[in-house]
Amino acid sequence: MYTDLNGKVAVVTGGSKGIGHAIAKRFGQEKMSVVINYHSDKAGAESAAKSVTDEGGKAAIVQADISTEEGAKALLDAAVENFGGMDIWINNAGMEIKSPTHELSLDDWNKVTAVDQTGVFLGSKVALDYFVKNNKKGNIINMSSVHEAIPWPTFASYAAAKGSVKLFTKTIAMEYANQNVRVNAIGPGAINTPINAEKFADKKQYDKTVSMVPMNRIGTPEEVAAGAAWLASDESSYVTGITLFIDGGMTLYPAFKDGEG
Ligand code: NAD
Repeated sequence: MYTDLNGKVAVVTGGSKGIGHAIAKRFGQEKMSVVINYHSDKAGAESAAKSVTDEGGKAAIVQADISTEEGAKALLDAAVENFGGMDIWINNAGMEIKSPTHELSLDDWNKVTAVDQTGVFLGSKVALDYFVKNNKKGNIINMSSVHEAIPWPTFASYAAAKGSVKLFTKTIAMEYANQNVRVNAIGPGAINTPINAEKFADKKQYDKTVSMVPMNRIGTPEEVAAGAAWLASDESSYVTGITLFIDGGMTLYPAFKDGEG
């Protein structure tokens, strides 16, 4: 636990399930107040809110599409109205669509980049505007992926968006470093969440994924949430502009593990 997080206010986009849900719960354990954004899964958001309050934190749920300016603003407004301000903004919402790139429709490209890339911009913009105008110390964490670094055939829109998140994070980290705002990214590897449910239900695909992880296992949403808590806390006070990979070593070129090549 990080005592400086006690009483802080966080916004978590896409908090109704998976990694966002786990971050909300962890922030509850840190006795924080959390605005949990959901897109369509209200029951999931209510369950995330319950896990926050069960742990001793406070929670509000807000339906919003993070790929719109009104959606991002609604989340900030909810933080200010319910909890009197906002300290930490987590751009977690994400989606992916699989398709050979020559068959990928413009519509599907736009759907993925609207959430994974534009959503990160819109959330960051609203948070930065609030921090700057209120002369307030701030903290932004963007959910990237190992695919900001590792190419991912048939997921070009996703990899392109996450590559963008990487440099967007570094750019705004530099732009606002002298205004007491830290901005970092997290690059999860293969994590057991609904986004992977179909893939991991297929034993062959599950085993194939595990074989790409030097630590030989799939990660948990709680392990990603632990990284988010550290980056949100003052324990990481001199860290800005990084991607913290939480991937069991997936970005270590596991094909070289036997010393060949
Ligand atoms: P998930 O599918 O379980 O959760 C994604 C969340 O984003 C959902 O709550 C969904 O409703 C929300 N969302 C989607 N579109 C939205 C929109 N327009 N507005 C608001 N919310 C929206 O997936 P997850 O695994 O928990 O993924 C969370 C983040 O972590 C994503 O950015 C994802 O790319 C990233 N990530 C996940 C993994 C993994 O293995 N699970 C690996 C690398 C990166």
